[in-house]
Amino acid sequence: MEIDIVSIFPEIITGFLGHSLLGKAIDKKALGVNLRNLRDYTGGRHRVVDDVPFGGGPGMVLKPGPLMKAVDSLKRDGSLVILLTPQGTLLSQDVLKRHSSKEHIIMLCGRYEGVDERVAETRVDEEISIGDYVLSGGEVAACVYIDSLARLIPGVVGDGESVTGDSFYGSLLKHPQYTRPADYEGLAVPAVLLSGNHADIARWRRERSLERTFRKRPDLLEKAELSREDRSFLQTLGHRSKEVN
Ligand code: SAM
Repeated sequence: MEIDIVSIFPEIITGFLGHSLLGKAIDKKALGVNLRNLRDYTGGRHRVVDDVPFGGGPGMVLKPGPLMKAVDSLKRDGSLVILLTPQGTLLSQDVLKRHSSKEHIIMLCGRYEGVDERVAETRVDEEISIGDYVLSGGEVAACVYIDSLARLIPGVVGDGESVTGDSFYGSLLKHPQYTRPADYEGLAVPAVLLSGNHADIARWRRERSLERTFRKRPDLLEKAELSREDRSFLQTLGHRSKEVN
């Protein structure tokens, strides 16, 4: 998997790539990330990337030419071109799973008042938003995207289970976790976790996962794969599932 990120402030992303899991993924060559300065695609001596909006109004808009030139020179067969925008599809684990099989992604980071609409119309495959709020630029959104995408690329997270067990992966929130000491300030960890009985532990974790999803994000239960046992357990919590009985 290789990702080209096009931005007028690529240095915002540089430090982020060097650390932790993402840094290791890049070192191991499981993931390649290239930072592209939009100004390198301007052609002119002044390297101008923005201009005032037609029709008036505040702020500046990123010009179509440099962004289109960047996409045209970076694109290959099978590339996925993403525009980061608050108006896009909300980023989710499902979107990331779909994107994790791509070999090449180009991400376009907007700034100021956004990007000339003709870029989205002619060069972009998907518009992605990281949430219903407005950032000053796409760089932080690009960091959020690649950090969460990297976890899904084979070989990046050492123990595969820690990805498939993550919240949202199977449409449920993850069960609570505890570590040493077993008793802290009189707060004991649930006894079952110290029992060594793997079947009991697995069942306890599944039930806690169902319970906290029901309490915190009941909407997720709509698309979760639930066994008959799961549904019976949810019923005891007061969840009314259409498929029970
Ligand atoms: N005027 C635009 C609008 O109202 O839709 C917002 C422009 S915003 C200040 C500048 C850039 O930040 C956008 O072009 C986009 O690349 C990025 N951005 C802002 N919020 C974002 C979000 N929630 N998700 C992804 N990118 C975002």
